[in-house]
Amino acid sequence: MEKEQVAKLDKIDKTDAEWRAELTPEQYYVMRQKGTEPAFSGALYRNHADGTYRCAACGTELFSSDTKFESGSGWPSFSVPANAQAVELHEDKGYGMTRTEVTCARCGAHLGHVFPDGPGPGGLRYCINSLSLGFDPKHTGTKE
Ligand code: FE
Repeated sequence: MEKEQVAKLDKIDKTDAEWRAELTPEQYYVMRQKGTEPAFSGALYRNHADGTYRCAACGTELFSSDTKFESGSGWPSFSVPANAQAVELHEDKGYGMTRTEVTCARCGAHLGHVFPDGPGPGGLRYCINSLSLGFDPKHTGTKE
C-alpha cells in the first residue's frame, strides 16, 4: 500500500546541484539542509488569508488555512496536514533533543517539526518554516 501511495505522489528526486539552482539560498538552507528560519521572520507567519499552503520546492498541497492557528511560536503552525500522504515524519535526534521532523512526501524537503502540544482535537502542532511554503489565496466571489 505504501508503494501505491508513493507512485501516486510521483516523487521528485533532484540532485543537490539542481535544488541549489532552483531554490533561494535561504530556502536551500531550510529545505535541503534542515535549517530553521529565525522566529517571527517568515512572510506567512501572520498570514490569515483563506487558501492553500504548498511546498515551496515542488508545489504539493501541504496545509489548508482552515487548520492554521496562532501558536505564538514565531513559525506558521497547523493542526493537521492537508492530507495524510502530503507529509512524512522522521525521528530527529539533533541538538540534544528528540523531535519529529516533517518533510514533504513528494520531494523530501525539510518543512519543520511536529509537536504534541497543539490546541486542536488531534493535539498536534505542525511548526513549519515559512520559507518552505508557498501560498495560494482562495478566490471568493465571482466578480473582478
Ligand atoms: Fe515538496
